[in-house]
Amino acid sequence: MDKDAKIYVAGHRGLVGSALVRELARLGYGNLLLRESRELDLRNQADTLALFQAERPEYVFLAAAKVGGIAANNSFPADFIYDNLMIQNNVIHSAYLNGVAKLLLLGSTCIYPRLAPQPIREEALLTGPLEPTNEPYAIAKIAGIKLCQSYNRQYGTRFISAMPTNLYGPNDNFDLDSSHVLPALMRKFHEAKVSGSPSVTVWGSGTPYREFVHVDDVARASLFLMERYEGWEPVNIGSGQELTIRELAEKIREVVGFTGEIVFDSSKPDGTPRKLSDVSRIHQLGWRHGIELMQGLRDTYAWYLANLC
Ligand code: GDP
Repeated sequence: MDKDAKIYVAGHRGLVGSALVRELARLGYGNLLLRESRELDLRNQADTLALFQAERPEYVFLAAAKVGGIAANNSFPADFIYDNLMIQNNVIHSAYLNGVAKLLLLGSTCIYPRLAPQPIREEALLTGPLEPTNEPYAIAKIAGIKLCQSYNRQYGTRFISAMPTNLYGPNDNFDLDSSHVLPALMRKFHEAKVSGSPSVTVWGSGTPYREFVHVDDVARASLFLMERYEGWEPVNIGSGQELTIRELAEKIREVVGFTGEIVFDSSKPDGTPRKLSDVSRIHQLGWRHGIELMQGLRDTYAWYLANLC
């Protein structure tokens, strides 16, 4: 990408999109096309097409999506499948119609089967049933991958896709009803410390394993793939390191400086038992993560204190 190439970051106010904008700015890309969702609803086909016709972006990072944690996915399945299908259909089709040179779709490792062999290789896609708590979201993202591949096959486009594992960092959603586990626990431990509560409640059994990757690493990996990857298969982005929800809770308790107990609420769902991505494909391409979990937790807690307290 030339430094003056017109680059559309769809979803630039979100966790991944805002990290992409920071990284692009840091590297000197100065011609970014950005629209907030209140200015442009990407679920609207005519409005999305009009943006592409008027602005003619050369590169597109498709980071706009309806995302959320296990409770939000479980409570609003229609929103998760409809919004994501509409956004992807509109952006990918408009990109094709308007000659976009290259597009990167961001998804998630929840596209893989619930009981896929671990660590999960990209080849596991569509080899078994999905985790029910986020199946509608996953189906939409699988459709996004297939859209990219189909346009490449029929129209010769260069649309690629990347699947980050559970991610976290600045601009994450810290709302306890809709967030993912890491920001939720950071907020719970912080509020318990401030109020002097004796304990913090963690959903589920604490035994599921999850892998986390800092969003600044995801932004760097996304740029790396945009520059270097031409394959049609999705590429996992992760740290390749997992821990249990209990271990995660203990680390966050330490970072926040809470000294009380951790209590597990087994009435809440565990979700998929294990979700470790195989990152050998992106390692072979020449990229690996740089931010280890403890450092990322400290940085994210500092951001939370500075911005949300
Ligand atoms: P998932 O990775 O798609 O299952 O999404 P989440 O990040 O929402 O949840 C990951 C795991 O953390 C699940 O086993 C949750 O039950 C567990 N968890 C524990 N406490 C919380 C919490 O306060 N919020 C959320 N979202 N998950 C929690």
